Amino acid sequence: MRTNKLPLKHVLSVRCPMCGAPPRTKCKLSSGQSSLQVHFDREKAAAKVAAPDNFSQATLRFVWETTLRGFRGIFQKS
Ligand SMILES: [Zn+2]
Repeated sequence: MRTNKLPLKHVLSVRCPMCGAPPRTKCKLSSGQSSLQVHFDREKAAAKVAAPDNFSQATLRFVWETTLRGFRGIFQKS
């Protein structure tokens, strides 16, 4: 039973351990055609790395806090 399904974009950001499809490339079938579905092992591999959405949110928060700190510095000086 799967509780949290990863976004396809995130699953595609890792290399598939099953068919060897490189990042941002769809999984390949044994016939060589690109598959509409990703291999389960790829989802497992993607689950081990941090989701890109969380990463960008953390980056945004860091930039925002740095900006606020900078503004405070300006106001304190004047
Ligand atoms: Zn695959």
